Amino acid sequence: THFGFRDVPVAEKQKLVGEVFSSVAGNYDLMNDLMSFGIHRIWKRYFTATAQVSRGDRVLDLAGGTGDIAALLRPRVGETGELVLGDINGSMLRVGRDRMVDRGNVRGFSYVQCNAQSLPFPDGSFDLVTIAFGLRNVTDKDAALREMLRVLKVGGQARVLEFSEVPDWFRPLYDFHSFQVLPKLGRLFAGDSDSYRYLAESIRKHPPQEELKAMMEAAGFARCRYRNLSGGIVAIHDGCKA
Ligand code: SAM
Repeated sequence: THFGFRDVPVAEKQKLVGEVFSSVAGNYDLMNDLMSFGIHRIWKRYFTATAQVSRGDRVLDLAGGTGDIAALLRPRVGETGELVLGDINGSMLRVGRDRMVDRGNVRGFSYVQCNAQSLPFPDGSFDLVTIAFGLRNVTDKDAALREMLRVLKVGGQARVLEFSEVPDWFRPLYDFHSFQVLPKLGRLFAGDSDSYRYLAESIRKHPPQEELKAMMEAAGFARCRYRNLSGGIVAIHDGCKA
């Protein structure tokens, strides 16, 4: 492409996921706001504010799409830091890059089209690797977690922000919002209800808190833990490379 990105072969399902995001890239903010009543902005701020990162660090934000996470991490790594946005989808990456430039974020940013399952970076390249609302779309999550660990420096941290499991008492309301309200809002505002339905389903299939923590341990991360936000609508998982 004209980005000069590396071409990475993708499996059929990944291609479909890519198409879903191509069709929503333009309506992306609207989608997030509808899904979360705007609260995703607070989750992202908390996710980045509590990340283990310091000035001058090199950070990889996977499924970086719109650049929300990278923009929030910018002040934390400072002028000397480096932020790499990785995303499988060229349109999302383009949206992300345009927004970064609009926000005045140019120096210290780079954009790499890549699949989280096989990263085009050498071992030990980053102090922090993040993935926000992205792991759930990855076909082989174990492979992605192993890759995140591989590209981390020893002592570095990986963080996952993702939809998770809500308590039983909340489920009827949550399901109603996801399966009844969201697709209708999607059709109304974005002319697209299928993408919303896909998202609601992908959230239900994503491994819940304890299971994802166990997957991170199995991938080889040390000191794995998680924290629920908004009662488990989303959770932050993190682990370190020992
Ligand atoms: N991190 C951003 C945020 O929080 O606003 C974007 C999240 S968006 C819901 C999910 C992103 O994951 C999309 O941009 C999509 O292209 C990307 N994605 C899906 N599968 C991927 C994979 N296997 N490797 C890398 N990125 C992937």
